[in-house]
Amino acid sequence: MTNVLTVHNPYTGEVVGEVPCCHVDDLNRRVETAALGAAEMRTTTLHERRRMLAASAGRLMEHRAELSALLTSESGKTIRETRAEVERAASIFELAAAELVGPTGDVLALDALPNGAGMLGYCMREPRGVIGAITPWNVPLALAAHKIAPALAAGNSVVLKPAEQTPLSSLLMCKLLVEAGIPGNALVVCTGLGEEVGAAVVRHPGIAMVSFTGSREVGVALPAAAGFKKVSLELGGNSPLVVTPSANLEAAAVAIVRGAFAVAGQLCISVQRVIAHRSVMANLVSLVSAATSRLVVGDPASEATNVGTLISSEACQRVERLVDDLRLAGAQVLTGGNRLGDCVYQPTVLAAVVRDHPAVHQEAFGPIVMFITYDQFSEAVQIANSTEYGLNAAIWTTNHDEAMEGARLLQAGTVIINESTTFRSDLMPYGGIKQSGMGREGVRFAMEEMSVYKTVCFGKPAQSVY
Ligand code: ADP
Repeated sequence: MTNVLTVHNPYTGEVVGEVPCCHVDDLNRRVETAALGAAEMRTTTLHERRRMLAASAGRLMEHRAELSALLTSESGKTIRETRAEVERAASIFELAAAELVGPTGDVLALDALPNGAGMLGYCMREPRGVIGAITPWNVPLALAAHKIAPALAAGNSVVLKPAEQTPLSSLLMCKLLVEAGIPGNALVVCTGLGEEVGAAVVRHPGIAMVSFTGSREVGVALPAAAGFKKVSLELGGNSPLVVTPSANLEAAAVAIVRGAFAVAGQLCISVQRVIAHRSVMANLVSLVSAATSRLVVGDPASEATNVGTLISSEACQRVERLVDDLRLAGAQVLTGGNRLGDCVYQPTVLAAVVRDHPAVHQEAFGPIVMFITYDQFSEAVQIANSTEYGLNAAIWTTNHDEAMEGARLLQAGTVIINESTTFRSDLMPYGGIKQSGMGREGVRFAMEEMSVYKTVCFGKPAQSVY
């Protein structure tokens, strides 16, 4: 039984650091600590919470350089991406602080029904208790912030189980948050293996809610394992982006390249399937190919790099196999299609992709974009929806009716018009339908899920005895 997890730099292969590989006993102790933290948080005033959340944002920004360098070395994300991620994590704490000014419940006009004559009620949200946060390696700081900040804002404590591949930046972030004033008992980290401590977080009776971001394969089994606790799941996707004949092709091409290759395509909302009208396909593909071939690929620590590495050698092999499968089925590789190193894969543009190929329906999670042709608008919608995922979808058009129809018909948690599928504002409700998950994040919406209504009903005034 190992007691240490070793973290590697996926680009250089060097050891970046070691963290404890916690076991179930360690988790149990941390949940006991977090239960004390939950009791502390419950009694804090909103003003105290606002102060600690705002100070957290400031503290993260003060340590932006250190956090982003560490995150780049353990994840293979480019330094420009990780700098932006730290800023984003900080702004999520700012948003959470801002959410604490304003109404927190509703007045209930109980006398609108006969049994409430003379009565008045109100409902307001109470914290759930200890929130178990399980996070992935692809956006480890911002996605942890999306769980920690709303959980604390709503008066809970958190046990964070970061991904095995990227625990160092999460540990540093949580240390900084505690230095900024978050009570130490209210934010505890438990590093370890997903199948052991992750699974134990899901089962633990002392944890009131599990907020999980990760793969569909793991996520699908969590609600049954969680038993009597709230579960929110942010799982995968294979986002479609529809390009209609009226679209601004130059702008669409820029958005496609940005959205397909950010974080080397390892985002659950990466642009994976471009469904373009036959009349614009040739132009669009050539614009995207030309821009893709100009991308600088490789060393994530270099300021010049646009596309960093995949998380592991196995991930790179999986992408290689996926491209080979599509190639064998008739797809044309217009740019890329080669492995450049142990964990580095060339950004790849695949044209004439067979729409029903099983690989099209998987989550590619790599630097690959697939082009599929359509003739009728209804066919584009049908192709876009023909998947078990439903996270983000986009439509590029200057035709108002098509934009409205796209918004209405595309099966997704978010439909984006004239932007990349990777667009996400941290203040919007974000999450999937179908097998992309359940529940919504986005600070205000996560706060709702991480709290429960308590309703208070005042009886009618005692009747005068005189
Ligand atoms: P990926 O394939 O992207 O690594 P995973 O779903 O395997 O996604 O991992 C996401 C997070 O879930 C990680 O923190 C991982 O340790 C954790 N995890 C993995 N397996 C389980 C499990 N059986 N129960 C709970 N958490 C798990």
